[in-house]
Amino acid sequence: MSQLEIKDLHISIGEKPIVKGLNLTIKQGEVHAIMGPNGTGKSTLAKAIAGHPDYTITSGDVLMDGKSILTMEVDERARSGLFLAFQYPSEIPGVSIANFLRAAVQARMAEGEELDATGYYKRLYSKMDMLKIDRKFTSRSVNEGFSGGEKKRCEILQMAMLEPKFSIMDETDSGLDIDALRIVSEGVNALRGATLGILLITHYQRLLNYIVPDYVHVMWDGHIVKSGDKSLALELEEKGYDWVKKELVKV
Ligand code: ADP
Ligand code: MG
Repeated sequence: MSQLEIKDLHISIGEKPIVKGLNLTIKQGEVHAIMGPNGTGKSTLAKAIAGHPDYTITSGDVLMDGKSILTMEVDERARSGLFLAFQYPSEIPGVSIANFLRAAVQARMAEGEELDATGYYKRLYSKMDMLKIDRKFTSRSVNEGFSGGEKKRCEILQMAMLEPKFSIMDETDSGLDIDALRIVSEGVNALRGATLGILLITHYQRLLNYIVPDYVHVMWDGHIVKSGDKSLALELEEKGYDWVKKELVKV
């Protein structure tokens, strides 16, 4: 069984430490949610793992199946089974979703290996059926004039096609209207299973009413201060993040 291990990770932006000693292990088949107030470093964590050049990992490691991903190029991280929802271009006029996904799938294949078009479309359509996506959708240009919900649908379909071992999804507070929320949660619930580990980052407890996580972690000031099961999310909803501050953070 595969696992993604984040070990005592420290991340800085410029000179400023943002993530300060974060530990988390995700096994294939598990859904982990990280919650926390704005500015605590949730997106920084996701972006640094994605290999964003502005985010410097100053110490610690991220291991997939025991192997550090930090020395890998961004595309190598993806090829070895890591999916990061936001690392893709926001709008590509003139490129259909079908062709974009085809290029993405081809890029994950070994050198010299050719993607078979018939097989590709068969797989694409079966994933679209599973996710209840209309056939017309994939002839549209990537993200061009898309609503928040359509962007999410494109992202989920991409995740379905790439069949990652681990997926890190940073669901920022903005852009998750009720339509997008439904698409993300139905998509994640359709894709979750024994071969996929998910790290779902969110500010809002509401998302976790639809995607019931196996584990919930509360992040505060750059590290995880409390972990529990789904009931922790409900407790947070009820008591707010001030409760975490008072009860859990030793100042
Ligand atoms: P969260 O996702 O938990 O709301 P972020 O990871 O976005 O938090 O931000 C953590 C801290 O890092 C904040 O203080 C934010 O202002 C700062 N920060 C995030 N991105 C940048 C950046 N590109 N340049 C400078 N500071 C940043
Ligand atoms: Mg964020």
